[in-house]
Amino acid sequence: MNRRDLIKAAAAAAPAALLPAASAGATPATLETKILRLNLQHTWTTTMSSSQYRDTLHVAYTRDGLTGHGEGAPIVRYHEDADGARQAVESVRDLVLSADPTQFSKLMAEVFERLRGNWAGKSAIDIAIMDWVGQKFGVPLYEWLGLDAADTPLTTFSIGIDTPEITKQKTLEAAEYPILKVKVGLSTDEPTIEAVRSVTNKKLRVDANEGWKDKEEAVRKINWLEKQGVEFIEQPMPAEMIEETRWVRSRVHIPIIADEACQRVSDIPKLKDAFDGVNVKLDKSGGMLEARRWIDVARAMNMRVMIGCMVSSSVTVTAAAHLSPLVDYADLDGNLLISNDPFHGVRVDKGKLILPKGPGLGLTKA
Ligand code: MG
Repeated sequence: MNRRDLIKAAAAAAPAALLPAASAGATPATLETKILRLNLQHTWTTTMSSSQYRDTLHVAYTRDGLTGHGEGAPIVRYHEDADGARQAVESVRDLVLSADPTQFSKLMAEVFERLRGNWAGKSAIDIAIMDWVGQKFGVPLYEWLGLDAADTPLTTFSIGIDTPEITKQKTLEAAEYPILKVKVGLSTDEPTIEAVRSVTNKKLRVDANEGWKDKEEAVRKINWLEKQGVEFIEQPMPAEMIEETRWVRSRVHIPIIADEACQRVSDIPKLKDAFDGVNVKLDKSGGMLEARRWIDVARAMNMRVMIGCMVSSSVTVTAAAHLSPLVDYADLDGNLLISNDPFHGVRVDKGKLILPKGPGLGLTKA
């Protein structure tokens, strides 16, 4: 091509280059939202609720022949439900579809700006975009984050509140998991732990889900749990009782981890000296990018980090698992509690989280 032809060719190409990608021949992006009912294998009871299924919001973002999958599990404790999450995502549909997904930090900042609350909806968008980006660049998300898949922690397997007989049975069914997380906080705490201990000596972590309203009671219960070989206690008292928890902290010997007391990244500094660590969940933070900020802030405060999840499918659990090489403790069993998981993603081998090697989240259809 001579110089004149080159100039002519450049002039012809220029107008197309100025147009947005969608009109320049690339397929326009699409966004699908649907609510999926996940059936639980056992009725799931905590201090907050009892249920046989959970509805989560699923988002599929398709562009350039690639589909990123996202999910958000609305948390009743924070006044969210699946319909609200879906409406929230629909309300930013135009923004998501017109944005350049490779500018995901900018896109999610705009989504956070536009949507108040609605953390599950934000998380569903964030996960779908990050899955798409990983696929676009051909790398698994853990690799894109600069992490070593071999560094994933062991995950706990959760035992919901039940009768001592069923608690025993559930503990036996969880034989392949080396660490259990036991839910307490109702009037049956001691029989529950005794039922677990009657069939296993393995490491236990205990979540009281704000169940103890009195600080003396909390100290008594935690001191008793210490004698049962419990490694740490999660959220012993109501979220707002940070001063009382600080009082408890100075009288017990095992770490106290914040869950409900930590709803925003800005809560983390307020928890210092009352809690030893925080439970980060994508459905609370609003996705992977914000969860990463939580982890960084908690580390800056010299706090321990746990990554947890709600009852959800392999979409959310796998997204959380990609961040798990950054944390001390994992409680990523939400997909193991359901019977109709639509995807395969992270696997668990004797408690160890095994990340898929495919690009993005690395999900495959079940
Ligand atoms: Mg918890």
